Amino acid sequence: MQAVKKDGKGETPMGDENKRFDVLIAGGSFVGLTQAIALAHCARGALRVAVADRTPLNTARARSHDGRASAHSAASKHLFSALGVWQRVERHVQPITGIDITDTALDSVVRPTLLHFDGALASGEPAAYMLENHRLRDALISLARETGGLTFLAPESVLDFQLTSSGITARLEHSGEVTAALLIAADGRKSALRKRAGIKTIGWSYPHAGIAATLALEKPHEGRAIQHFLPAGPFAILPLPDNRVSLVWTEARARADELIALYDAEFLSQARTRIGGRFGEVKLAGPRAAFPLNLHLARSFVAERMALVGDAAHGVHPLAGQGLNIGLRDVAALSEILVEAARLGLDPGGARLLARYQRWRRFDSAFSGLAMDALNQLFSHDNAPLRAIRSLGLGLVDRAPPLKRLFVREAAGLTGTVPRLLKGEAI
Ligand SMILES: Cc1cc2nc3c(=O)[nH]c(=O)nc-3n(C[C@H](O)[C@H](O)[C@H](O)COP(=O)(O)OP(=O)(O)OC[C@H]3O[C@@H](n4cnc5c(N)ncnc54)[C@H](O)[C@@H]3O)c2cc1C
Repeated sequence: MQAVKKDGKGETPMGDENKRFDVLIAGGSFVGLTQAIALAHCARGALRVAVADRTPLNTARARSHDGRASAHSAASKHLFSALGVWQRVERHVQPITGIDITDTALDSVVRPTLLHFDGALASGEPAAYMLENHRLRDALISLARETGGLTFLAPESVLDFQLTSSGITARLEHSGEVTAALLIAADGRKSALRKRAGIKTIGWSYPHAGIAATLALEKPHEGRAIQHFLPAGPFAILPLPDNRVSLVWTEARARADELIALYDAEFLSQARTRIGGRFGEVKLAGPRAAFPLNLHLARSFVAERMALVGDAAHGVHPLAGQGLNIGLRDVAALSEILVEAARLGLDPGGARLLARYQRWRRFDSAFSGLAMDALNQLFSHDNAPLRAIRSLGLGLVDRAPPLKRLFVREAAGLTGTVPRLLKGEAI
């Protein structure tokens, strides 16, 4: 990493020599930090990269556990392994051994599984893994600080940017102006930089929120994930190490707020009603929080000398745990394009490179967002004829092993034009 001032509160640059970069990334969360590490690591010094996040690194708030864990596809695991991130989190990872899907009513005595997916790919490799978000964030921060050719600025906001004849000049809150050939916006779903570039989004808000909570179980989960489609929305029970589970529990927004505000014992009692008795006694094992849900897609993933990645470009319903995985596909595709270009001495902000990124990623992201929405629609209606058709359809899928294998490959992120890093190959 280049010279930075370390004052205990954060990291900000010293001197003008640190103010010229090839790539400036605004937003240093999961997607922005992975993008920064991937570019610095794979270009081996051929690109000067900076990443800025407005959140202080060392405060309790920045490091606190927001109650969320994420499902990471096999493809995302390949990317993290290639960058040396996976090695730092491996002991905290839980492979998913199988997925059970059900839509039985809560008062039903038995809860038959409508559809079961084996969690392994044909190679025997797990298709997905669970990992708590705070573990991933810690690993990305520590690796970013150790990676050569990477300047990590935090707390530091990218306030604005202007196009110049040879690049962009960005105005930072604490460090003044910096220049770059390319600005990558990884600043999340409300991306101010996307707005600043005049890029509109299409999509809608769901009237739901996703409640995330962690529970400890009495009986073993054996690595199984359960997706229970209830009239209020999907209720997912996702396995974590140490026989804990992460809940992603969808409810109407007002109801979600009420549930979050309950005393622990009342919240647990509501959770137990939905989980049933299969895991024996359950206890809270972490904080809980509710997240508003929406679907959005940027009308363009690029503007002059600018590319959008992660939630700044797209946001999907979390029912299949794909939002971050799709963002990491952006990272892998953009890294492949930029690193190849750097080796040829091309301008990283060049229009042809950005057009190639847009072609590669926008259709795939739109397809994923709409597929999640269609699944949510299919399961969010509770009338008897629809339930019957749905059960019949899922029963047919359950009896079609080739189709199930295809779904598992899709969930593993290994279909379509897969960027090399996601296949575990070097760029
Ligand atoms: C309940 C729930 C469960 C989910 N489960 C899964 C799952 O299992 N698997 C999965 O793949 N996905 C999942 N997702 C989706 C996933 O969490 C998001 O896709 C992911 O967090 C997006 O990461 P990001 O880095 O793009 O954006 P964010 O995490 O939103 O980060 C944006 C960053 O930009 C910074 N920032 C903003 N503006 C500026 C600025 N001007 N200057 C500098 N910094 C700035 C912010 O401080 C922040 O750190 C889930 C989402 C929800 C709500």
